[in-house]
Amino acid sequence: MNQAFDLKQLLTDPIVAALARAEETAWFAAKPTDTAAGLDASGIDPAIIEDARARFGRFALWFAQHFADTLATDGILESPLVNIPAMQAELGRRFGAVLPGKLWLKRDDSLPVSGSIKARGGIHEVLEVAERLAIAAGLMAPGDDARVLDAPEVRQLLSAHGIAVGSTGNLGLSIGIVASELGFNTTVHMSLDARTWKKELLRARGVNVVEHEGNFSDAVAAGRRTAEADPSVWFVDDEASLSLFAGYSVAGSRLADQLTALDITVDAHHPLIVHLPCGVGGGPGGVTFGLKAAFGDAVHCVFAEPVNSPCMSLGVRTGLHDGISVADIGLSGLTAADGLAVGRPSRLVGEHLQQLIDGYVTITDERMKAFVGLLHDTENIDVEPSAAAGFAGPWRILKDESYRAAFGLDEAALANATHIIWSTGGSMVPAAEMADYVAEGQTMASEITWR
Ligand SMILES: *Cc1c(COP(=O)(O)O)cnc(C)c1O
Repeated sequence: MNQAFDLKQLLTDPIVAALARAEETAWFAAKPTDTAAGLDASGIDPAIIEDARARFGRFALWFAQHFADTLATDGILESPLVNIPAMQAELGRRFGAVLPGKLWLKRDDSLPVSGSIKARGGIHEVLEVAERLAIAAGLMAPGDDARVLDAPEVRQLLSAHGIAVGSTGNLGLSIGIVASELGFNTTVHMSLDARTWKKELLRARGVNVVEHEGNFSDAVAAGRRTAEADPSVWFVDDEASLSLFAGYSVAGSRLADQLTALDITVDAHHPLIVHLPCGVGGGPGGVTFGLKAAFGDAVHCVFAEPVNSPCMSLGVRTGLHDGISVADIGLSGLTAADGLAVGRPSRLVGEHLQQLIDGYVTITDERMKAFVGLLHDTENIDVEPSAAAGFAGPWRILKDESYRAAFGLDEAALANATHIIWSTGGSMVPAAEMADYVAEGQTMASEITWR
């Protein structure tokens, strides 16, 4: 790509310089923007949230019939919110600072169907494409229960259409599982870092898995090219899709329902602070959009990225968005965190949502892994490394006095705070691989100190 920037000039920013050295960084918005104004400035219509939520509702009985792990939630793809006091206390000891308020884990690692946050966005887009095709063919009416898609003539229609996606793994898994279940002819372009078990699981379902030598962006580009050449193929574009984004955004109103059920208040005196692992940005961006629409100024959203692929931190900080990649500042882009090895951020999120994002934190692979080990030891919960990217975030906020002062997070407010670490993947990781993550993390426990 033609470099339209002066690298030397960019590196005079101490944050960009620290990103280039692959050091942990944390920086926050200087002052709050009114959430309503931020939502407006995004140019994204909040009506997409309700539209997507209604779509998931129409598919609930279809999911309950096709995926046994959705029965417990009546076919709704949702995850529990759990309190993790032992982890909170242990992190407080190790970081040398008691965290006021309560620490929670949002268990998207255990979302049904595909075991990661991608079950929100990726699946939503597949459902939308299926409905659109069936309605256009006169085989479904808008608002119909999605079980009509099981009729033989609809399945025949869908099998004449392709769905393609480029993915580091989890998105391909979500889309491949649901698209193949609906009868689509499905192709997943995987990058080099994608795990073998994901490829095998998809192939076992009849999905065409194409492996690429390059990174995530190369896999996406390859998928886009093949789909462009064939009009019967729908390409799910992780870097720019509004339908994916809409699927993720449903998490906001659902979380509001969960907090209400738990009797947890969220307002200016009871802040909600959410830490979201970020790859290309669609997942955390969509969730942020939904959360801000649900809670307004009372919710704070912080993105967490690996030190070797901090594409969103870099894109927003420099204002260059997808015009700069982590390779441009000398970073490898390689990380043990599945789904987060992304070199260039989403156009949709960085540019359009930056007014709604409170802060950006980066974390080393060693510390992510150490959090996995510690979560296992303190709470007996196992997640994959990417899902643990957010655990330093609450303490980064605690130690950032200027952010806290600017955003009204004084002692009294923090004492009432609800801190949520969004855990984004893990339940489909084979047991032996998960045991390796935990064992490796346990050997790295000494990484968790304040620095
Ligand atoms: C994809 C993914 C993310 C981040 O989502 P993006 O849309 O890429 O930002 C976080 N965690 C896991 C486990 C993922 O698979």
